[in-house]
Amino acid sequence: MNSMTIPPDVPKSVLDETLPINPKFVEYDQRTNKAWVKADFEKCLNCQWQNPLNSKACERCGRTYLETYRKDEEITFQGDGISAHTRTPVTECKVKARGPGGTMIAHKLMMKQRLVVNLAHEEAHKENYCATCNRVYTWESGRKATSEEMELCRQGKIPEKETKKTVNFV
Ligand SMILES: [Zn+2]
Ligand SMILES: [Zn+2]
Repeated sequence: MNSMTIPPDVPKSVLDETLPINPKFVEYDQRTNKAWVKADFEKCLNCQWQNPLNSKACERCGRTYLETYRKDEEITFQGDGISAHTRTPVTECKVKARGPGGTMIAHKLMMKQRLVVNLAHEEAHKENYCATCNRVYTWESGRKATSEEMELCRQGKIPEKETKKTVNFV
């Protein structure tokens, strides 16, 4: 009988429980250690779990920092293990700076939350953004803005909500 032996240099695979891969959304190639998006999903920026599209919160850790991935995009995972969500998130920000020789330099995602107001729609949201580069990730808890919040926003004391996801280098 031919037993399947795994050579020691085989990279971590989806079979290794420490990689938080949801086979519903992600195809994993053991040989190249690469993963592809099979169907659109929302990746949790905290624990890396892949949630159904348009999820409001991660079904695994309950956090609301989700980022949409589209079919056929390549995706990388950090082998943080199942307990990743219990530790401080160490996730790379999507924004990368171009360094010398064209190499892309990543930085750690410093997710913070702030109140923003959309003056045109009189709405207030909690905005999740990267404190390092100011990149906006998601909005949550949308509601009607109070007249006080509207006033503070006009005075520049509360930031105005961006109307689309933009990347600002600071
Ligand atoms: Zn999560
Ligand atoms: Zn950033």
